[in-house]
Amino acid sequence: MLRFSSENRSSFQGIVLFAQVIVDIAHSQVDRIFEYSCPDGVKVGSRVKVPFGGRVIDGFVIGVSRASAYSPEKVKPIAEIFDEQPALIPECFSLMQKISSRYRVPKAVALRLFLPSEMRLGKVREAYKNYAVFVSADIKLSASAKKQAQALSFIEEKGECEYTHLCDTFGRGAVNSLADKGAVRIEKRKVARNPFAGLPAAGEARTLTPAQQSALEEIECSEKTVHLIHGVTGSGKTEIYLSVIAREIQRGRTAIFLVPEISLTPQMLMQLRGRFGGAAAILHSGLSAGERFDEWQRLRSGEAKIAIGARSAVFAPLENIGAIIIDEEHDSSYVSESAPRYSTVEIAKMRAEYNGAKLVLGSATPSVETYVKASGGEYGLITLTERINKKPLPEIIIADMRREVKRGNNTAFSKALREELDETLKSGNQAIIFLNRRGYSKTVMCRDCGYVAKCENCDVTLTYHSEENCLKCHYCGAKYRMLTECPDCGGRHVLYNGTGTQKVVSDLKTLFPSARIIRMDNDSVSGKDGHYNILKQFSEKKADILVGTQMIAKGHDFPSVTLVGILDADMSLHFSDYRSGERTFQLITQVSGRSGRSGEAGKVVLQTCSPENYILRYATNYDYAGFFNNEISLRKATGFPPYSLICRVMVTSEKGDAALEALKNVYFSIDELRKTHPDEFIFFNKMHSPIKKIQGKLRYQVLMRLKGYALIDKIYDIAVKNTSANCLVYVEENPINLS
Ligand code: ADP
Ligand code: ZN
Repeated sequence: MLRFSSENRSSFQGIVLFAQVIVDIAHSQVDRIFEYSCPDGVKVGSRVKVPFGGRVIDGFVIGVSRASAYSPEKVKPIAEIFDEQPALIPECFSLMQKISSRYRVPKAVALRLFLPSEMRLGKVREAYKNYAVFVSADIKLSASAKKQAQALSFIEEKGECEYTHLCDTFGRGAVNSLADKGAVRIEKRKVARNPFAGLPAAGEARTLTPAQQSALEEIECSEKTVHLIHGVTGSGKTEIYLSVIAREIQRGRTAIFLVPEISLTPQMLMQLRGRFGGAAAILHSGLSAGERFDEWQRLRSGEAKIAIGARSAVFAPLENIGAIIIDEEHDSSYVSESAPRYSTVEIAKMRAEYNGAKLVLGSATPSVETYVKASGGEYGLITLTERINKKPLPEIIIADMRREVKRGNNTAFSKALREELDETLKSGNQAIIFLNRRGYSKTVMCRDCGYVAKCENCDVTLTYHSEENCLKCHYCGAKYRMLTECPDCGGRHVLYNGTGTQKVVSDLKTLFPSARIIRMDNDSVSGKDGHYNILKQFSEKKADILVGTQMIAKGHDFPSVTLVGILDADMSLHFSDYRSGERTFQLITQVSGRSGRSGEAGKVVLQTCSPENYILRYATNYDYAGFFNNEISLRKATGFPPYSLICRVMVTSEKGDAALEALKNVYFSIDELRKTHPDEFIFFNKMHSPIKKIQGKLRYQVLMRLKGYALIDKIYDIAVKNTSANCLVYVEENPINLS
């Protein structure tokens, strides 16, 4: 670290240059470039400390020039320079501009995305260890210095060892005397904290099937930057990703591999290590600060060439990127739910274009939005219709839970599922029981007939709000009286909350007393190893049944699983979201895909109260095309995305009057926009958010459905203008969650 006197510039040796600096303050009022003088040798991308408004604060050097636009007396010198190697790669500056103008965040906030947070706050540094290295035995030792003699012969034989180990064995005094005499040398060495050090590496590359080979060639030869691999579960997409990466690595380029869920990273890391050894580095929030810092450094220094991780790894500090892979591209975790609310695919596209890299999106159930682009020719489309070795997709059996209720079955398990579980356990195979809990909200659904309460204006499911004892539509704000009985059949079991994991486990224990059951959900898992350990236990067949929520739906490859039970397949179907059909289709396909992946054929039992629902029909027939065609015409008819843009401006504050004042201004400004651009607006309203208060903050919203993106910049402007110290105003595009 270089340090300068902050008083005078004459302390700089040699030529004085001028650095353009972004100060690390997340505020629009200082979102400008400031100039400081600096010594020659300051590198673009370095982090610095600079005097600013009477304090010394962190900043980023984004440019260095010989001349200044200001008179020299006005330019203050940089106080301190970190990083021998600049922390930020050159690409950061281009992305910073794009991100800050696209998502309307200060440049400092955009730059922060590229650094591990603990590095910014100066909380972690590199880790060092001292080593004792043998130099010479040619010294005089007195006869009484037994410990020294022992230590010397030990180290002579070993050549070197950890300093603390030597001290613990022979005494610190003895070791230090040897060092003083020049018999050993104490060396400080950097050590890399290696996450998942004990993880076994998976096997070698496989010979690609003809379908995989032609997919690889198409990606290679096509002019297009973005490709979608739409391949059924188990069709060998992962092997294609690895081959794409391998080719780029051979060319001396680098790669980013994104998975939707932290729990999936060890499995992929295993595969990457098998193929690329130490060239793979893992980046995600589950690592310790030190591990993440070291892995980040390995990528930044060029030692590691492949970054694997969840969403935020799209900002990996890699130069010369040849490929970016986004596995399970449809997953909602790829959209950031805090500022900047970026879409990972959008950022990946920016990076791919900057680097001339290929962006490969993969899914068995592409999002409607992506598939529209792929089938329309904007993206390359590669379709894999068969599993590897032509293994059949598992048969999906529908269990009608309305009948079970009528028969007096009050457990979470249908007769069909019980029978299949029995078979599976007898044959020594494994089963997964999946509880549908994403975006779970209280729905009015009749357990006797499957009736669901919907909004008359919007055709989306209503949500029960207990504090007002009423039903609400999250898209238009309409309120309805709570039902006490079903309007269709008169049944009285109308408010349905689904079954909890614990009840499922206890029911299972009663039904199958000798089965070994493990559970994986947010309550039962913690830490980076938590997921990994549960999954490892299960894959080593130390349990027969895995019970879990969304977490177990994705990507996992357990060869002995031949049965998947989906409880409450309806839950996500009736989530009050225009995407609920899409989500349900995706979930059922993903979870089913865990069954019968090798060896024996798999089965799936899907429990539902609405077996005739068309989404479930398409899902059980693995009919993506049918689902897509139906869904897209529905979206067109009702004016939902991609045929519109749902835009929510959130106004949040602890102070009621500040929130209302801002809400009024936001509403007024947007209303002005509507008057000048009436054709752009499909719907527009202001209201309380469905959840009025979170963590002491009042929440108001202006919700609109727009024809497209024409006004989005203006809406961001309005949000920025109305944000104050008391009140945060932000924009969400097609929000995942409207609560
Ligand atoms: P997906 O990612 O499409 O769900 P995977 O890549 O996990 O599918 O592949 C499914 C199974 O097929 C895995 O067990 C994988 O090891 C195996 N597999 C993939 N490609 C090949 C190949 N070319 N030859 C043999 N086995 C393969
Ligand atoms: Zn409505």
